[in-house]
Amino acid sequence: MSASSHHADCFMCGLEQSEDTAVVFRDPLWSGEVVPGYDVPGWFVLRVRRHAERITGLDEAELASFARRARDLVAAVTEVTGAPATYLLVFGENHPHFHALITARGEHVPADRRNGNILRLRAEHADPESAARLVPAVRRAYERLAGDGRHPLSA
Ligand SMILES: [Zn+2]
Repeated sequence: MSASSHHADCFMCGLEQSEDTAVVFRDPLWSGEVVPGYDVPGWFVLRVRRHAERITGLDEAELASFARRARDLVAAVTEVTGAPATYLLVFGENHPHFHALITARGEHVPADRRNGNILRLRAEHADPESAARLVPAVRRAYERLAGDGRHPLSA
């Protein structure tokens, strides 16, 4: 990634500097990781690595690969957490740099904290250490599930 593809004042661009311990995977186009401020156990961010705003800002290669990355990361998070539901959320308002928030919705999450209300857990269930502890298992599951399809566009 060249510096010119990142914006100095963009939170999502700044994640290029994340510690490796937070990162599930990185390929030329996408990164999956635990993000400060969204570090509820079972929550991960899938973000495009260059600064591209909203889904309408993705180029053809990013569009073509997004669904596979989302599927594989959702599958890995679901497998490791055992959650009965795993959400794939895209808003693009507070942080327009395109990203999806993947949130395992555990059995214990009450009805009034499900669906869109799960975002209340961002403050209520923040636990950076527990969130980080899930990374190695999710990384192994992702690598196995993504398999040879991990870099279909890089050949
Ligand atoms: Zn950005």
